[in-house]
Amino acid sequence: MLALFLSSSSSYPTLTFLARSVARRATLSSLTMSTNLRRTTTTHAYAGNPLKSKTPKSTDSFSPSSAFDSLKSLIPQIPNHHTATPPSPDFRVLPFSKGRPLVFSTGSGGDGEASASPIWHLGWISLAECKGMLASRGVDLDENSLVYLGPKVEEDLVCWAVDVSEEEDGVVLVFESRKLCFVELRTLMVAADWVDQRAMDELAIAGHARALLEWHRVSRFCGSCGGANVPKEAGRRKQCSNEACGKRVYPRVDPVVIMLVIDRENDRALLSRQSRYVPRMWSCLAGFIEPGESLEEAVRRETWEETGIEVGDVVYHSSQPWPVGPSSMPCQLMLGFFAFAKTLDINVDKEELEDAQWHSREDVKKALTFAEYRKAQRTAASKIEQICKGVEKSQGLSTDFNVESGELAPMFIPGPFAIAHHLISTWVDQGSGNVHSKPQAVSRVCS
Ligand SMILES: [Zn+2]
Repeated sequence: MLALFLSSSSSYPTLTFLARSVARRATLSSLTMSTNLRRTTTTHAYAGNPLKSKTPKSTDSFSPSSAFDSLKSLIPQIPNHHTATPPSPDFRVLPFSKGRPLVFSTGSGGDGEASASPIWHLGWISLAECKGMLASRGVDLDENSLVYLGPKVEEDLVCWAVDVSEEEDGVVLVFESRKLCFVELRTLMVAADWVDQRAMDELAIAGHARALLEWHRVSRFCGSCGGANVPKEAGRRKQCSNEACGKRVYPRVDPVVIMLVIDRENDRALLSRQSRYVPRMWSCLAGFIEPGESLEEAVRRETWEETGIEVGDVVYHSSQPWPVGPSSMPCQLMLGFFAFAKTLDINVDKEELEDAQWHSREDVKKALTFAEYRKAQRTAASKIEQICKGVEKSQGLSTDFNVESGELAPMFIPGPFAIAHHLISTWVDQGSGNVHSKPQAVSRVCS
């Protein structure tokens, strides 16, 4: 099943309640639209992390506390432990440098266009390799520097992440003849094949690990007393080391509303451009939720502030962890909505946006059709292969997408890794009356 496009006719139970309460106030036409638009549920990039689905109970050997105790007793025995029987569970570590996970690249080895591009994999290393890697830089492996990610029970493994932020761009590491390199998560995201469950699982694991490590980096001191925070529960939370304070802190999530604003006739959608976007890219409005406001209020306020448009009904679609935002925010949670406009006149806040315009469904459909998402994915995958070979030093992608030169579309929308893509494509599909064939429809426009 397509990892990114899981689609069903069922709704989330809790959201059904939300949608019902909205629907009671809705007009007949927007009620019809809402019902159709919320029929599609989506598992997005960075969601569906297989290591996180069920945290083991504390008595389980895979649990954070049990695994941490095993890890702590094991570290002093390294490097001799590899000659003994491997511990059960064993441990694997994913190193990060400056927010970039360690990866390696393999050729697909298959025939045909679909398997023509290289494939990236997370660069898990053993505890002994991790200790050796740090020792080569004069650093002792401390169990408190490892952050618990979760178990792979079927492989008798517990997975950890560690921040080794010293590597410069283009440095290639070699473990057991594998060439590995630290690569930007955004590049991995663009390069991940969205129909490959393994690739999407690895992207979700990398996103979660990056978010945790980034939170550890920016939460070193207590916000109450200024004392040093120390990791607890295998790095899943922290606590102030000042005994008189003892404040507990938990990994930070920054909620953001992202909304596709639709006109009353359900013919046009409001898309906007930020100055940081690549040329011709248009997307949904988005903004941070402020203290003391509901999600619906945040949708209405942000839309009003950025475009001067008044929003009435607000209908939830889906959510996406977004660990590739600014580093001061370890992980944003994008909460996706459809927002039904009560007014049409646009008054763009130029400090927030470069432009905002109403676009017809036909124009938006064209933008989906002509963006070469598959080509961009393969280009990024090839770039990662070059980085891992030490050939390519720069990490950035100059642009996420090229648009077919034969029939240049005036705009395109973000790729299938972004919730904006799914909000927009759901609306396009809803209008064409084929909401029940969502996976096929999206596959078509993304291939
Ligand atoms: Zn404190």
